[in-house]
Parts: sequence; structure tokens; C-alpha cells
Amino acid sequence: MGRVYDVAVLGAGVARLTAAYRLKGRDVVVLEAEDHIGGRTLSKRFDDGSWANYAAQYVSTDKVKVVELADELGVDLVPSGFHSDELRGNRGSVEERAEIDRWVARLEAEMANPRPATAPELDGISVGAWLGDAPEHVHAFFERWCGQLIFASTIETSLYGLMLLWGDQRTSAFTVDAVPRSNRGDTVFDGGTNSFTHALAQASGAELRSGHHVTAVARGAAGWVVTASSEEGEHTVHARQVICALPAPVALSVIAGLPAAKADALGAIRYGRNIATPIAVLPDGARGSIEPTAPSRAGAIYNTTGFVLKTPGDIARDGGCFHAYVHDGHARVIWDDPPESIRSGALRAFAAHHPELAGRVHWIGFRRWEHALPQYRPGRQALQGDLETSLDGLHFCGDYVTTANMDGAARSGEAAAAKALAAL
Ligand SMILES: Cc1cc2nc3c(=O)[nH]c(=O)nc-3n(C[C@H](O)[C@H](O)[C@H](O)COP(=O)(O)OP(=O)(O)OC[C@H]3O[C@@H](n4cnc5c(N)ncnc54)[C@H](O)[C@@H]3O)c2cc1C
Repeated sequence: MGRVYDVAVLGAGVARLTAAYRLKGRDVVVLEAEDHIGGRTLSKRFDDGSWANYAAQYVSTDKVKVVELADELGVDLVPSGFHSDELRGNRGSVEERAEIDRWVARLEAEMANPRPATAPELDGISVGAWLGDAPEHVHAFFERWCGQLIFASTIETSLYGLMLLWGDQRTSAFTVDAVPRSNRGDTVFDGGTNSFTHALAQASGAELRSGHHVTAVARGAAGWVVTASSEEGEHTVHARQVICALPAPVALSVIAGLPAAKADALGAIRYGRNIATPIAVLPDGARGSIEPTAPSRAGAIYNTTGFVLKTPGDIARDGGCFHAYVHDGHARVIWDDPPESIRSGALRAFAAHHPELAGRVHWIGFRRWEHALPQYRPGRQALQGDLETSLDGLHFCGDYVTTANMDGAARSGEAAAAKALAAL
């Protein structure tokens, strides 16, 4: 059988890397399918010191676990210069705003009334059903909010999910008990979010095997046997404990012999998709060379952020990067189009929003995220127990187990590491 690791960690996103870091000192191997370490924290650095993020970027004040880990690791967080209110966009006329504010007041009243997460009036209904016959512009307002924050529509988001998303990306749906907050303000990782995950990977001291695609997880004589394929062929890894936070559909497809309740819970998790096209511009006075080169679909939406998300500082004056994406409902329309068409569509959208900056673009990134964010669908909270349950030395973590952001991923990774340590 050869070497038996204490723990095999599957995947190298925030959740697994936090788990590996908390298992420091143990014999741990991390298996990651891609060459890139960090999963949905993917960044690029430019020579002038600026950076682009393809996915996770913001660390709002309620993400205390991320702040705690960043401080432990000595990774710098800098003020984001952004408030999530900016994503809500224009609320319309005075009358329309007043109507929206009445619904916001209803939402906040729900949040001031703590109940179990599984309460049918919270978990059992979609935001669309809760809004009922509210005016169209009220539905449109919450549709935009769910789309931006969870890459889902109001019919795919429960009222409980909206409560988790409201304001900041919260760690609690309720406001009565004090939600722990960092005193740092809303921040981003200096140099890009990958600086965080690279620091976690390094500090963990774990053996990191990138380019190792996990294809099977099964019980074995010493605990568990994990099979992975890489350019060199197929490998098996033996481990006493396994921490799995592969995206839920991947976990479901590779783990043999899952009990029905676990399989059903994993199978019920749905992800919103996202296409990221971060756009970097040069400082005032410089000229960039990136322009649209391919046709894009007439009438399709290539950006849903309105280009309000960006690296800190004055981009118009100093240059920097717009953190641009198109979320699920619109991403589906262009999903299979050639990257150059999608890039060109995003550049045209950018030129329409920022004509003064269009000639200064020096780089545009492209990345399709099939499993961009796990949705808070109606009925999701009822699955919580089955999602968390370990199976005889196989522990589950990832943002789909807790809350759909880096903080949830990190907290779930810590919890999985604690369970593995207790069992070793
Ligand atoms: C566009 C976008 C913007 C976001 N913005 C924010 C934000 O501002 N703030 C915030 O807190 N969060 C944000 N998020 C969410 C955040 O990125 C995630 O919640 C978090 O990074 C999830 O970490 P994870 O470890 O659970 O999953 P992941 O990072 O997805 O890790 C899963 C890993 O498993 C690997 N894997 C998959 N299949 C296999 C296989 N068969 N074998 C081996 N490895 C495999 C993947 O390659 C990946 O590395 C954003 C996400 C997206 C997509």
C-alpha cells in the first residue's frame, strides 16, 4: 500500500487551504485539478503593482475569519474604496424609490426577528413569491440584487438567502444578536486575492499536488483511497482521513457509496454561473492597445456590474483594473460563444460606460466559472445537517456547506480540520 497520509485534502480553494493550514504539522497532501492554486481566488499582477481579480475580491466587515487568517499570515488588506450599495444601481423615480424602501423595511423587519433557518416562511419561499404582487420595479430591484450578489434570480433565492445577502454578504441572516465585525472597514487583498490563498498554501506546509484531477474516492484498508489523474497518469493516495470540498456536483460524482441522504443533499446544491472579464487600464495620458476584434451578440448583456467594482484608488487618473463580470441569467446566453466574442462584447460595454477610458485598455482577462456561487435556493437550509455530516473519516467543506463567500469557505475548512484532528 505504501505511504499512508494522515489527511488527503481534495481541492485547493480557500476552504481546503484553510483546512490544510489548520492541520499544519500533520502529514497532509492536497490534490488540486488545476495548475492554479486558490480555486475561485484567481488574480494577475501587473508590472506597475496593480492587479486584477477574476473572482473573489471583497472582504466586508463581517468576514472576520478571513481578516483573522490574513493577520495571522501577514497578508495585507487595504481599504476597498467600495460600498455594496453601489451595486444596487439606480432605484428609479422618487415614488419608485419609496416603494422599494417599503419592501426593504419589510425585509429588515424579518431580519430583526430571529427564527430557525429552516422556518418555512424563510427557507420555504422564494424572494419572488415573497414579493408576490409587488410592482414590477420592486421585483426588478431585488432581481438585480440577487443576480449581483449570488448570481441567481429571485425565483432561485429563498427569503432566508436574501436575508443572508442583504447589506454586506453576511455571516448571519439576523440582526438582533450582534454580528461579529472587524474594525478594518471593507477591504481587499493588496496585490490580489491570490496573495491570501498562496500564503495559506505556503504556511500549511502540506504537500501540494496541482494538476491532479480527483476521479474517485473510496474506502480502503487504511481509511480512504483517493484516485487522481495527472499528465503522468493515474495515482492513488491512501489517507486515514479525507477532507473533501470539491464543488458539490463533483463530490457527488467521485465519492463511492454515499448514503442516500448525503447524495440527495449534494445533488440539491445548484450553482450560478459567471463569466469574468476584468479590464485593466493605463494611467491618464497613456494609450492602450486592446480593442474589440470580434462580433458580439446584438442585445446581449456582457457586463452586469455597471463597472463599479475596481481596484482601490483613482483609476481614471492612475490606471488600475475594473473587476467586471456577467452573472448567471445573462452568462447563460453567451456561455458557449468564443472567448474573443465575449471579450469584445465586454470591451464594447466598457466603452459605453467609460468612453473616456476606452482607449487606455491594456489588458482584458477571461474566465468562465461554471460553479461560480452556490445558490441559497428555497429548501437549502433544510439540507444543512446532511451537508455537514462526516462519513467515517470523510469530512466535507466548501462555501456550499456554509455561506457562499470566502468567509464561509474558511469557516467550513476550519471545522473540517477540527473534525479530522479529533479523529486522528
Ligand atoms: C466572480 C466571483 C466573485 C466573487 N466575489 C467574492 C467576493 O468579493 N468576496 C467573497 O468573499 N467571495 C467572493 N466570491 C466567492 C468565493 O470566491 C468563494 O466562496 C470561495 O473562494 C470558495 O472557496 P472554496 O474553497 O469553497 O471553493 P473553490 O475555490 O472553488 O475550490 C474548489 C477547488 O476544487 C478544485 N477541483 C474541482 N474539481 C476537482 C477535482 N475533480 N479534483 C481536484 N480538484 C478539483 C477546483 O479547481 C478548485 O480549486 C466570488 C466568486 C466568484 C466566482
